[in-house]
Amino acid sequence: MSYNKSAQSLLNKLIRSNLVNTTNQVEVLQKDPSSPLYSVRSFEELHLKPQLLRGVYGMGFNRPSKIQETALPMMLAEPAQNLIAQSQSGTGKTAAFVLAMLSHVDPNLNHPQCLCVSPTYELALQTGKVIEQMGKHYPEVKLVYAIRGNKLPRGMKLEEQIVIGTPGTMLDWCSKFRFIDPKKIKVFVLDEADVMIATQGHQDQSIRIQRMLPKNCQMLLFSATFEESVWSFAQRIVPEPNIIKLKREEETLDTIKQYYVLCNSKEEKFQALCNIYGGITIAQAMIFCHTRKTAGWLAGELSREGHQVALLSGEMQVEQRAAVIERFRDGKEKVLVTTNVCARGIDVEQVSVVINFDLPVDREGNPDNETYLHRIGRTGRFGKRGLAINMVDSKMSMNILNRIQDHFSK
Ligand code: ADP
Repeated sequence: MSYNKSAQSLLNKLIRSNLVNTTNQVEVLQKDPSSPLYSVRSFEELHLKPQLLRGVYGMGFNRPSKIQETALPMMLAEPAQNLIAQSQSGTGKTAAFVLAMLSHVDPNLNHPQCLCVSPTYELALQTGKVIEQMGKHYPEVKLVYAIRGNKLPRGMKLEEQIVIGTPGTMLDWCSKFRFIDPKKIKVFVLDEADVMIATQGHQDQSIRIQRMLPKNCQMLLFSATFEESVWSFAQRIVPEPNIIKLKREEETLDTIKQYYVLCNSKEEKFQALCNIYGGITIAQAMIFCHTRKTAGWLAGELSREGHQVALLSGEMQVEQRAAVIERFRDGKEKVLVTTNVCARGIDVEQVSVVINFDLPVDREGNPDNETYLHRIGRTGRFGKRGLAINMVDSKMSMNILNRIQDHFSK
């Protein structure tokens, strides 16, 4: 499977087992700045239906996450308020809108009331699982997937209260086939807006669905990032929005010891790595290579030396990749060899040794400072100490290292 945004997003969901903590404050922009801003510290304060509160606690949630503290009261307020929310993956957005959908449905009415669109079938399925978990004690509420391949007989009317799916099929079900009466929708959720706009056609389809919905339908849009293109799309989907943003935790190199090892070739780098291998496996280590080929070669050589290593490679299916990362995270392997591209956007918190077998460079061969920082940087909050070892095998890579050094003044 090729590397793309939706695959990365899915991978993150598959490996995420708990909330990403943050000390940053949420930024809130209210549609009506004079109305009071509520935020809650407990789920009780939200006056949820008892069966939903049980569902929430059953999932092991003790209190609302940072973004949920403000987003939930807004989403549950009467009359309905629209919301655009942005925060990095793992901060509790999905759980929040699932709770909002479940709270707003009337289980006695047997027709769709909430629509949720996701960029891919797999991502829709992940959200569906959350709906099932959270709605575990609320079996009257039913869910159906509007995805290609799910063929329904002509003339049928859906009875499920929540429909989750991809934009194309959702649109067909609302207009062409009329399985859904869009005029009866109370909540419209657009998830992963940044991934959505990266796919041709999804923007238009989403907008066309949105136009069929009643004026008083609650519109909610979520995104992990917020470039200009996402923002202008968000404004077309969500009229008169409240806006919530949560900044990413800043990464720093302050608590990281950084070294470099001078070598003359790939083989020498491998030898140097073997020499320090005992030291690095005291903790968990990730080794980054520039290409798949090098990563494969290195993992092979290390295994031949009798070391147990995991290899994460771009040619694997997303599920395979998730399995590799999970084994590594559980400590079954101490060392993970991977390529630059493959590990982008994936956080494995307990890694305290990072080895750049090849230094990160961009397409033009210039130093990629951002990737360097993201690979070895730690968020100040954890303050965990880390170790980074850079392997240099030529004048060119020494030059790159010097430029990275200058950039960070370290
Ligand atoms: P996002 O949609 O922003 O990526 P999720 O809603 O998927 O985030 O939440 C990330 C992880 O944190 C999930 O494993 C989810 O079960 C968990 N989670 C969400 N909200 C809470 C909470 N209030 N307390 C504890 N865990 C939570």
